[in-house]
Amino acid sequence: MTMKVEVRPGNETPPPARLRIGCPVCRGQNLVHSVSFEALPVSCNSLHPDARSAAAAKTGRFTLIFCRDCDHFFNAAFEDDRIGYTPGYENSLHFSPRFVTFVDDLAHRLTTTYALDGKLAVDVGCGKGDFLKRLCSISGARGIGFDRSFEDNRGEEIAGVEFVNDWFGDAYPDVAPDFVSCRHVLEHIADPIAFLKGLRAHPGVRPETVFYIEVPNALYTLRDMGIWDLIYEHVSYFTPRSLRMAMEAAGFEILDEDASYGDQYLFVEARPAQDRTAASHEESSEVDALVSGFDQIYSDKVAWWRDYLARRDPEQTVVWGAGSKGITFVNVVPEGARISALVDVNPHKQGRFAPGAATPVIAPERLRGKPLQLIIVMNPLYREEVARAARELGLAPEIVVA
Ligand SMILES: [Zn+2]
Repeated sequence: MTMKVEVRPGNETPPPARLRIGCPVCRGQNLVHSVSFEALPVSCNSLHPDARSAAAAKTGRFTLIFCRDCDHFFNAAFEDDRIGYTPGYENSLHFSPRFVTFVDDLAHRLTTTYALDGKLAVDVGCGKGDFLKRLCSISGARGIGFDRSFEDNRGEEIAGVEFVNDWFGDAYPDVAPDFVSCRHVLEHIADPIAFLKGLRAHPGVRPETVFYIEVPNALYTLRDMGIWDLIYEHVSYFTPRSLRMAMEAAGFEILDEDASYGDQYLFVEARPAQDRTAASHEESSEVDALVSGFDQIYSDKVAWWRDYLARRDPEQTVVWGAGSKGITFVNVVPEGARISALVDVNPHKQGRFAPGAATPVIAPERLRGKPLQLIIVMNPLYREEVARAARELGLAPEIVVA
């Protein structure tokens, strides 16, 4: 199935990308085609300073492929060189109370399990550093965050925590971490096995170094129809099985693994394996069955929203959440581009514009006194938070989870 996303003025249609052959996790070729798009914004989290540049944002082809050998999904049309992570890349969720609770609980659990007090924690792909700061203040660990999009614009400094505007590579041989976290990075990497092997082979990593790897859960996308999570920046969509296979293929021994954040995330805790035993192989699971109906369910859901929005006043409708889900929604749903605004509590997003649809991003305060009819919430976990915020602003709209 192919769904065409409207190519707006100023957009160049990208040249046909070469499709990748072979699964990035197991190299297998037992592959099944699923959803595809002609043009998605390549960088959902890069908001634009004005509507014109937002409408002209770069787009790329998206062709979702499922690997039956390891239950992995990937965008076979992904082109590494189309993406750049610069300081304008804004994906922090740390302005949401629901998310802050999740991070604090995680930091407490990791602190207890791995006795992090006084140790050195390295966060690879630390974003703006919010997670590492919380982890170190809760645990008493020292911290070094590595990220090329790091930007010191968040005021709060934590003693013993520093940031490097670079990747965590061999250029830093003296950094010898006891604990390495890498959250929501692996799914952006064209060759995740090579990336994980690189982490394991870092000169500062010792046999007892513990790794915490977290990614979005592709099973959530499939089972709970979290379809707005399919974005260009994510070349990989991990299931529990493909994440485990990726870790083992890269030479890690798994200490713990589970789903978290209302099943939306997957994590593994691991350390470098000492004897290189062959990676475990299991029979394929029920994922195959979920995949077969996914493209139909996806297009049905998009069509449902198209019809729903056609019956409402787009001027009195907002999408709450200018993260990748909200930006995908306004770009993928026909009628979505007519929605008046994306609302976000993150002040670094407010006043900017969504790539593609060029929808403005506004602060919740801006809705006060408006005859708002409909709020579309992009994540069910935030429904209560949004309903409360709306009440406090004196609004009484219908609230629907996308
Ligand atoms: Zn595979």
